[in-house]
Amino acid sequence: MIWTYSCPHCSATLNPNETIVLRAQREGRRFLVGFHPQPGNYEVDLPDGEIMPSGTVWDFSCPVCDHSLVSELSDGLCEIDLRLHDERHRVYFSRTAGEQATFVVSAEGLLTDHGVHTDRYLEHLVHLKYMR
Ligand SMILES: [Zn+2]
Repeated sequence: MIWTYSCPHCSATLNPNETIVLRAQREGRRFLVGFHPQPGNYEVDLPDGEIMPSGTVWDFSCPVCDHSLVSELSDGLCEIDLRLHDERHRVYFSRTAGEQATFVVSAEGLLTDHGVHTDRYLEHLVHLKYMR
């Protein structure tokens, strides 16, 4: 496996079988969602009968420790840790269904961004390298 994702709070591996599994919660609905491990691939696996209508904002949390993954950087983003080729990165992604904005940030700053809606969040991320 190339991509290893983990919880920033409890360090549990979030993608034991390639797919990233997070808990999603909104207005009384609570279920596990599977995300594609490749940043920029927006395929999602939902349980039968569940939908994430475009434009709805979700609370994503770690399925192991239940800690919220919402980022302090921007209320619109969630964050998880990524290890890729033995380097540690942090991945930020939009909490809004249908919004395609994903950022991979290394210790040196923003590494890559993916998706057609990144301009909504870029201002929160371009300054990251100056904060470290
Ligand atoms: Zn956790």
